[in-house]
Amino acid sequence: MTDFTMQKDADGVAIITWDVPGKSMNVLSLDGAAELNALIDHALADEAVKGIVITSGKADFAAGMDLNVIAAMKDGGAQAVFDGVMTLHRLLRKIELAGMDPKTKKGGKPIASALPGTALGIGLELPLATHRIFAAENPKAKIGLPEIMVGIFPGAGGTTRLVRKLGAMGAAPFLLEGKLSDPAKAKAAGLIDAVVADPLQAARDWVLQASETDLVKPWDAKGYKMPGGEPYHPAGFMTFVGASAMVHGKTLGVYPAAKALLSAVYEGAMVPFDTALKIEARWFTNVLMNPSSTAMIRSLFINKEALEKGANRPEAPDQSVRKVGILGAGMMGAGIAYVSAMAGIEVVLIDSTQEAAERGKSYSTGLLDKAISRRKSTEEKKVEVLARITPSTDYADLQGCDLVVEAVFEDPAVKAEVTKRAEAVIPQDAIFATNTSTLPITELAKASARPDQFIGIHFFSPVDKMLLVEIIKGRETGPRAVAKALDFVRQIRKTPIVVNDARFFYANRCIIPYINEGIRMVAEGVSPTLIENAAKMTGMPLGPLQLVDETSIDLGVKIAKATKAAMGDAYPDGAVDAVIFKLADQGRLGRKTKAGFYDYDEAGKRQGFWSGLATEWPEADTQPELTEIQHRLMFAQSLEAVRALEEGVLEDIREGDVGAILGWGFAPWSGGPFGWLDMLGAPRAAEIAGRLAEKFGPRFAAPQLLRDMAAKGESFYGRFGAGKQAA
Ligand code: NAD
Repeated sequence: MTDFTMQKDADGVAIITWDVPGKSMNVLSLDGAAELNALIDHALADEAVKGIVITSGKADFAAGMDLNVIAAMKDGGAQAVFDGVMTLHRLLRKIELAGMDPKTKKGGKPIASALPGTALGIGLELPLATHRIFAAENPKAKIGLPEIMVGIFPGAGGTTRLVRKLGAMGAAPFLLEGKLSDPAKAKAAGLIDAVVADPLQAARDWVLQASETDLVKPWDAKGYKMPGGEPYHPAGFMTFVGASAMVHGKTLGVYPAAKALLSAVYEGAMVPFDTALKIEARWFTNVLMNPSSTAMIRSLFINKEALEKGANRPEAPDQSVRKVGILGAGMMGAGIAYVSAMAGIEVVLIDSTQEAAERGKSYSTGLLDKAISRRKSTEEKKVEVLARITPSTDYADLQGCDLVVEAVFEDPAVKAEVTKRAEAVIPQDAIFATNTSTLPITELAKASARPDQFIGIHFFSPVDKMLLVEIIKGRETGPRAVAKALDFVRQIRKTPIVVNDARFFYANRCIIPYINEGIRMVAEGVSPTLIENAAKMTGMPLGPLQLVDETSIDLGVKIAKATKAAMGDAYPDGAVDAVIFKLADQGRLGRKTKAGFYDYDEAGKRQGFWSGLATEWPEADTQPELTEIQHRLMFAQSLEAVRALEEGVLEDIREGDVGAILGWGFAPWSGGPFGWLDMLGAPRAAEIAGRLAEKFGPRFAAPQLLRDMAAKGESFYGRFGAGKQAA
């Protein structure tokens, strides 16, 4: 089994084709790199070879480094990582210098890359080391360096080469934000050299006519100056100071990769190219050895993909959805209709009036128009997608639906009625799903004549943007319903987690304590600015007060009243209610009323905090330590996640971590609540929880599971990792 093969043609061009057997997309492994190295040696030594083209045997060029390999490299320790990276550097540098005389830079063989489609990560770092990059006219192809998104940075020379090619400023969006471009945009930005109908032919032609000077990279030529200036050049100085401030402003220091990347760029800019590669390798090793990158790769890549591929799917034949009925064309129903129609599924969108159903469909029109104006879609695609959505008031139109998703008002009686009406029409084997966010699935299933075919499919708002879908099994939900829900989620290209039925399921259960903890602190006299900044400095995308303004304060009031009714005297959140009820009484319901914890201008733009906060809940003279606030906010969420695991609501910690990051933005650098607790270590986590419980109340008491693990020195991934069931 070989990943790379080489063929020489009659003109003396050696075509090296990358085609990893058994995979739809090329990824680089260490063995693959060794094969490529041997082929390059062979071609450079072979006098009959005039030039080399590196291409792919697949529709795309490559998706990057095999992240499983990167995760495994770590096990060998820092030296092994560094050595592995330096091996890649030597290979790519060999391609770049192509056998030329080191002094005169003469005598090298031209090497070009031909990219039929997507080229990401090392799939672009390799072409960047060649002398010319030709990409196909393939608007679907994505070109870029997305490493930063999983907590690392381009460490196979991509960082050093791109900065030398585009300057620090020009390279910043690609390196720091992982920006991906289609071939035309990549060409305009200077990432690649040409976009052509037949890149392999164009690369061959180029190789055959290339001159010796074509092969010398600017940074290997005499008198090279970095575009935009080096760090001690006045213009370069401004760039680096600005970039450093910008990165810190955006990451607040919680993402080690961004900082390490900047260091590699800054230090690398002041030394010769080969030394810069070594510096890049050192910083890359540093980041790879940081627990954050392990946790991010594990949750955002390995486990996310495993869940998307059906890691927890029960055995059942393919349950792909052909026709979905959606009941309720409000905010959620309209969004679910859009994502379904985009996935090629026929949609019947039902509401009580034809006008409401049409309005639900027009939500899709709006999104498609926006996509067209941004050149992300076309008129033809719009016509095609809209034709799949039939707005109606007639339940008879649900005939032939193999799945129904109910998104009517959050009222058990209304939900029971629509369940019965739909089940009277849909096929016997159809699955009925509810999108409820607060009502127990098992209770709602009582309205169904087929409770084993009844399930929760809980979307997050806005449906078209949010990546997570929570699938909830009621007590009687059968395996085929779970398989159906999972296959539907795969069709609409979202990430599923499967949980058991309990109050607020998983995501809302954990996010509510976070919001409540922030609100409690306001009542205690903690500075609202300190609360919000502490949250962001732990990597939460929104502070708790901003979050409750976004989700609306009246929703908080509604949930509080319902929870209190259900829990009676055991209800623990009176201190929270004292604050939100007061805001609600004054009509401050959050962003939607342009008034909440924050003030908003007419356009709905957030201004400062509402001045009334300071009069109603004056700030205390002595403010708590930052770490204490951070611990309160992080433990409020994480302990709830542990309780969900302990109670069997969560069955797989991978779902707990992936769901937390995608569902409510739990500090992504940590890999999720279980990843974060593992970083702290169970003994320390239990000790901090104990201290918080003593000071702030039993809501922080360490769950038995955590205490057991602390006593035994266990970690969550050690005990429950890689699909080991929680039992
Ligand atoms: P919404 O009020 O915007 O929409 C509900 C729609 O259902 C309305 O268009 C209404 O006319 C229609 N409807 C009511 N009774 C009906 C009936 N008998 N037959 C047909 N249509 C009927 O509400 P929403 O925000 O879209 O929420 C819908 C459901 O999704 C609720 O169960 C809610 O808890 C849940 N949910 C909401 C969110 C959110 O962020 N809004 C998130 C997840 C889940």
